Amino acid sequence: MQRLVLTAILISFVLTGFGQQQNSEIDKKDLKRIVKILAADSLEGRGIGTEGQKKAERFISDTFKELGLNTFSESSYLEEFEVKQKYWGEVYIETPNAKLTNFENMVFQGNDVQNEEIEKEVVFGGMGTDEELNKIEVADRFVLIFIDNLRAGIKYKKKLAKRNAFGVILANPENDKQFESIRLTLKSHYLAKRHSLPRENRTKSKIAEWDTIQYVNGILIPNSQVKNISGLSINQLNRLIEQNKIEDAPKIKVKAKFEKIENTIKTANVVGLLTGKTDKTIVISAHYDHLGKIGDRFFAGADDNASGTAALLELAERFSKARNLNYNIMFLATSAEEAGLLGSEYHVNKHSFNPEKIICNINIDMISRKDDKHFGNKYLYCIGSDQSKALNELMIKADNAYDKCEFDYSLNDSSDPLGLFTRSDNYNFYKKGIPAIFFHSGIHKDYHKTTDTANKINYRNLEHRVKLISQVVELLESDGL
Ligand SMILES: [Zn+2]
Repeated sequence: MQRLVLTAILISFVLTGFGQQQNSEIDKKDLKRIVKILAADSLEGRGIGTEGQKKAERFISDTFKELGLNTFSESSYLEEFEVKQKYWGEVYIETPNAKLTNFENMVFQGNDVQNEEIEKEVVFGGMGTDEELNKIEVADRFVLIFIDNLRAGIKYKKKLAKRNAFGVILANPENDKQFESIRLTLKSHYLAKRHSLPRENRTKSKIAEWDTIQYVNGILIPNSQVKNISGLSINQLNRLIEQNKIEDAPKIKVKAKFEKIENTIKTANVVGLLTGKTDKTIVISAHYDHLGKIGDRFFAGADDNASGTAALLELAERFSKARNLNYNIMFLATSAEEAGLLGSEYHVNKHSFNPEKIICNINIDMISRKDDKHFGNKYLYCIGSDQSKALNELMIKADNAYDKCEFDYSLNDSSDPLGLFTRSDNYNFYKKGIPAIFFHSGIHKDYHKTTDTANKINYRNLEHRVKLISQVVELLESDGL
């Protein structure tokens, strides 16, 4: 304890002279200029693979060049990679009397892709008891089952897979409102576009792939569609159940399509380097992509994460002027973060990536706003410093070295797997065993909305926060970890 305090005082003495002068490179006017460029209408929210993202990529790359940073590959700052995009296209079941379309009058819950229209029969399976299912031929057919809770259909999906059925159609005659409530809750989740890296670029999961249980496609329908899909009314079908004669229900031929659309998107991280005396590297990262455009509305992403990208560029300027760096510094502006932290995942899985050579990852994501937990703007969350003693000591030193330091450690709980720490690029470095810190100013009402715009930012305060981060980088540079 005593020794730590003494070291801190010594460092603070050395750094206040050195640091404050160097930190004058970090300036609110520059930060504002950069945020405004990245969050401008013409960049249309920097969605991956779009012209707006390419413009941001060029701007960052040009800035690295102006600052004289070393390129990442032989002649370029770009680390190019591909993202696989998948989403459901046309999904429907067509009966002789009606067309059921996904999330209008049916809800599709399956994984089985049918890109070409197919033809199948629908048979009635009553309440789905074994006794009932033994009485009918279910192989390669859709089986209509009455269930008292549409959310509990999984056991039928499994049961019918064992009997080689093609799919299960579930209706709940007891509760007409349940379908509508499920339709509304699941719609955006099921129709969302999913992104991933090609298999060879992914971080291997520590959990074994256990997905050996087979399920058939599940389709939920409202009671108003029961007659269209089975040829009989709910009352008639209920009577067949009571009389133990479900095999008497007609078999209806339907057409169906479960189309999945797959695209490949090309994008790139932008990487600039400064060379130090050793072969160890500090990686400073910030994602520059955002949600892009939906319809004619675009998501400016000023706080998320033009603010962090501006910080990255200002830190690049500040450290490009420093002489005799002890460690290399990598400035890594990642893409496809919003699609699932894919730019950083790609980066840490490249053959050339050696986790042993990286002393720390400093990740900056959303640092220019204020959350509900704070009255004023004078704070900055530091998330992840509880991972190790060394990181903890680094932050204690930073706290002591800079008199205006206001780090908030209250989100520092790496034992919480759903915490914020797992929701930005630092997590991919952490998974490779690299100490990683995430700087952040909290979730606010404009988060992931079209209203996250540049005019909502207090730039004096952003400057203050970038200086705090600069202080941490400076300590890493002089003392390592
Ligand atoms: Zn975001």
